[in-house]
Amino acid sequence: MAFENGLIDLRSDTVTVPTPEMRHAMAAAEVGDDVYRDDPTVNRLEARAAELTGKAAALFVPSGTMGNLLALMVHCAGHRGVEVVVGDKSHIYLNEVGGLAALVGAQAAAVPNQADGSLAIAAIEAIIRDADVHHPRTRLICLENTQNICGGVVVPLEAMAATRALADRYGLKVHLDGARLFNAVVALGQPATALTQHVDSVMFCLSKGLGAPVGSMLCGDAELIDEARRYRKMVGGGMRQAGVIAAAGLVSLDTMIERLEDDHANARRLAAGLADLPGLVVENPAPETNMVYLALDPSRRITGPQVAEALKGDGIVLDPGPYGFRLVTHAWVSQEDVDWVIDKFAAVLAGVRRRKGRVCEG
Ligand SMILES: *Cc1c(COP(=O)(O)O)cnc(C)c1O
Repeated sequence: MAFENGLIDLRSDTVTVPTPEMRHAMAAAEVGDDVYRDDPTVNRLEARAAELTGKAAALFVPSGTMGNLLALMVHCAGHRGVEVVVGDKSHIYLNEVGGLAALVGAQAAAVPNQADGSLAIAAIEAIIRDADVHHPRTRLICLENTQNICGGVVVPLEAMAATRALADRYGLKVHLDGARLFNAVVALGQPATALTQHVDSVMFCLSKGLGAPVGSMLCGDAELIDEARRYRKMVGGGMRQAGVIAAAGLVSLDTMIERLEDDHANARRLAAGLADLPGLVVENPAPETNMVYLALDPSRRITGPQVAEALKGDGIVLDPGPYGFRLVTHAWVSQEDVDWVIDKFAAVLAGVRRRKGRVCEG
């Protein structure tokens, strides 16, 4: 089921549009002024998110970036100059516009993400500061699950438990960037609490694979969420009749979690089909969730933007790097779409071979 306009958009799962059921729920939503806590639909969504993650409270925020920012602000509050341990391939470190430095006043202590998305315990321990008067104080460790840049991998539960144990030994907090928490949940076949029990705060997005038009949730204990609510107002994220969008989020949680397994199956099918094509390397041939990372062989004289341009004519939308792509499956990409994409990739790459042949002959 491609989009109504026939396009197969593999740039991200953020391109998903609200389902008819979401549209209906949005139109019918009971609303109030959420800054006064008067919006019953937002209140229901927050209660539901708290319950799913096993936390006492939750806060509806406009974006995942704001959810992470508020968590960082609360965990570091009153301690400017502290250090936050982050993965060197994490969204907080790479893709949140330096908010940790600019808006929180903390500095990042980056530790390499391992292939499974985790941070090696020894590496975290080595970067935690001692009491020397010259040193910043370490305050918080951030994990990301699923880990996007490592291939949409599910960070193993044992790694999360070990990180928690280390944090406890040093008196540190742990925050989870769970933008795609439910992809991890479905891949693991475990409840969300299997992951969230190891962290003090967790952010997850409704607006990605879960298909809602807008919104993310920050979950934690009551005190943390009360503080986050103040910071949300500070950064301009206090919304009024937000029940209109929260209603779609409730539909996401009711109807869009289990079906993520289809996206994972489609990603596996896509990876397997593309792995056979000459000139293309599938970097994660056995995707754990909904992402397939591809690299083009640079010697074949075709770049990512050229491949993207060629496939546009076949209704396929890609976000190219110089010599590669991240393809993301979601509810608007069917198994038939995946087969079409594999066929068209094959045709474009075969075309390159022919052109190269002619170049050599000439
Ligand atoms: C998308 C994403 C975010 C931020 O979400 P936005 O809603 O786009 O701000 C945070 N972390 C990860 C890993 C993401 O993929």
